[in-house]
Amino acid sequence: MARKIGSRYTAHQILGRGSAGTVWLGEGPEGAVAIKLLREELASDQELVGRFVQERAALLGLDHPHVVGVRDLVVDGNDLALVMELVRGTDLRTRLERERRLAPEAAVAIAADVADGLAAAHAARIVHRDVKPENVLLNMQGPLGPGGAHPALLTDFGIARLVDSPRRTRATKVIGTPDYLAPEIIEGLPPRASVDVYALATVLYELLAGFTPFGGGHPGAVLRRHVTESVAPLPGIPDELWQLLLQCLAKAPASRLRAPELAARLRELLPGLAGLPPLDIDEPDDDEAESEQEGAGAREEAYYPSAAPAEATPPRGAVPLVQGAVPDSNRETHTSMRVPGPDELAGGAHGTARAPRAAGERRAGSARHRAAPEAVRRRRIRLGAATAAALVAAGLGGWLASGDDEPDDATPGVHQSEPDTP
Ligand code: ADP
Repeated sequence: MARKIGSRYTAHQILGRGSAGTVWLGEGPEGAVAIKLLREELASDQELVGRFVQERAALLGLDHPHVVGVRDLVVDGNDLALVMELVRGTDLRTRLERERRLAPEAAVAIAADVADGLAAAHAARIVHRDVKPENVLLNMQGPLGPGGAHPALLTDFGIARLVDSPRRTRATKVIGTPDYLAPEIIEGLPPRASVDVYALATVLYELLAGFTPFGGGHPGAVLRRHVTESVAPLPGIPDELWQLLLQCLAKAPASRLRAPELAARLRELLPGLAGLPPLDIDEPDDDEAESEQEGAGAREEAYYPSAAPAEATPPRGAVPLVQGAVPDSNRETHTSMRVPGPDELAGGAHGTARAPRAAGERRAGSARHRAAPEAVRRRRIRLGAATAAALVAAGLGGWLASGDDEPDDATPGVHQSEPDTP
């Protein structure tokens, strides 16, 4: 069933559905394209359409082998569409769900590609703000790189910013996962380029470990961990790689590497990682997370009675906000945040993160927990369903999208997300 998009494009078949809309395989004057048709309620918002058009030039100008190119933006009647380079392959989340953990060489090769893409974006004064496995596409038709990794391309530039305005968040009930949020965002600072580096380091940790460093349990607890906890070490990880991860997961944005340095350092590590198998580790001892989660579940039900059942499948990476939600009365889970101390600023181990263990290594008195990928996925969805609640409670929703971000003074030449072209 073909569908015309503007005067130049035809959408032929659905490739997938995401939080902001549906992605179609389409065709335009230059051949095959991917067309992201934004959801109708987004398309009918005049303010959003205005911003969409405003940001057109910046998005169109971002041309890099590790960024999914935006070819056109179409505003046509009720249709608001982003015409993109077609990437024949899969997204990184799908690969991770299939393999659970990647070999270090492949994981680092993918992260290096994404860091290259980010470096180009940051040089163009664009901050992505939503780096996560769902937004990394793997081009299966591209040449195989180190560790057999296909080229990785970062997608959805500008989308987080367009879709996450406070008003929009309320209107559309869609907001992202907290697993990749940099601590300074949680503390209310405007997102600079360094939030992307933090998110990418989180993705790399997840590729290696099979879980994110601060995920699990109630979303408020996830937010708190980003701000207050240190990263639990991964048994068996080569030390240089670990040090790099630590540096990019530093609480203090200025302590993190910039994207170009990160890309270069990751590529330097590649030869030494050749042939290493995926890390052999268990999920962190989830006793704490589970009890947090159980408590959280009870709270969620109490406050958000119409929350979607855990097994419902919302679009990936999206969280339905429940209408009539009221703030969580347990402020402690998400507002008792403190300024990180000097050791934390250095990214050193200091907190009480739930430590993963080498496979087979047991902690006395605790059951060995090995979550199946499906369980991990369900936990992610469940976590997602509660995220919005915590973000609303923390006043984050409003912030997440406030568009009036300041230029990044700490990062010369790299400014805030807004593609600041008129
Ligand atoms: P999400 O909101 O989860 O990031 P998207 O809306 O970006 O999802 O994408 C939905 C689906 O469409 C995904 O499965 C993704 O693999 C596919 N997709 C997105 N962009 C492209 C593209 N440029 N080329 C090919 N497939 C794409």
